[in-house]
Amino acid sequence: MEKRQRTILSTTTGMPATDGAGVNMTRIIGTPMLDHIDPFLLFDVFESDNPDDYIAGFPPHPHRGFETVTYMLAGQMRHRDNAGNEGVIRAGGVQWMTAGRGIIHSEMPEQEDGLMWGTQLWVNLPMQDKMTAPAYQEISSAEIPTQRRHGNVEVRAIAGKAGAVTDRPTEPIYLDVTLPPNAEFWEDVPATHSAFLFVVDGSVQIGDEALPSRTLAILGDGEAVAVETRDQAGRFLLIAGRKLDEPIARAGPFVMNTQSELRQAIADYQSGRF
Ligand code: FE
Repeated sequence: MEKRQRTILSTTTGMPATDGAGVNMTRIIGTPMLDHIDPFLLFDVFESDNPDDYIAGFPPHPHRGFETVTYMLAGQMRHRDNAGNEGVIRAGGVQWMTAGRGIIHSEMPEQEDGLMWGTQLWVNLPMQDKMTAPAYQEISSAEIPTQRRHGNVEVRAIAGKAGAVTDRPTEPIYLDVTLPPNAEFWEDVPATHSAFLFVVDGSVQIGDEALPSRTLAILGDGEAVAVETRDQAGRFLLIAGRKLDEPIARAGPFVMNTQSELRQAIADYQSGRF
C-alpha cells in the first residue's frame, strides 16, 4: 500500500517569551495557543546577536518527568548538572538530557558577544519512565551522522534509526535537513508518531504550501513526510515522536501525569531529594 504523505494541519511562528534569568526567545510549543504536540511539551528558539538577550542564561534549576534536547545552531552554551555531567555544546552540537526522577542543571552562554542561536525541545517520558535515573548525552557536530542524498540533499540525523540518539522511549526522529533549490526530501515517519517541521532558513514546500523561515508546521497523520524546494534553498528540522496519549500535569520545570505527582515533585525538590 502506498504510504500516506502528511499534510500541513496548521502553522505558527510562536510568541516572544522570557525564561531562565532573563533570556529573550521565541516559544513555539508550550504556549496558550499551542500547549503541546504529544509527546513534545515545549519548543523554544533563541536567536540573537545582542548579549542582553542571552547573557543571563539559565542558572541552576530542576526538571522532572521528561527529556530536554538542546541543539545549537550558532554560539556555545555550557551545561552543568548535579549528576556530575558538564560540557560545552557548540554550533551543530546536541545535548540530550533525560531528567527522569530529577536533575538540577544550569545552561549558561559560553560567550560574551556574537550570535547565539539554537533550540530547546522538551520530549515527554511515558508514565513508566518518568522516575527513571537521570541521563545525559552530549553529541558534537562531527559525531552527528550525516547523509548526502540524491540531489545534494544533506540530512543530519540527531535522533532516529540512523541517528546519534536512539532507543529513547518515544522513538523520536530529529533531522536537520538542508535542500538546495528544486530538490526533494522524503522520510518515512511511522503512523504512531506526531510530527512537525520547523524552517530554519530559506523556504520549503509541503504540497502547494510554502513555509517561510522561522515557521513551525504541525503535520497531520500519515506514514511519510515529503518536502521540496522551488527556486530557493531551504533548511528545516523534522521532529517526530510516538504519541503517548497519557494525561499531562505540568507546572514549570516538572511534567507528570497527575496533580499529586506534581505536588510530590515540588516537595521532593524543596526538601533536597533531587
Ligand atoms: Fe533546563
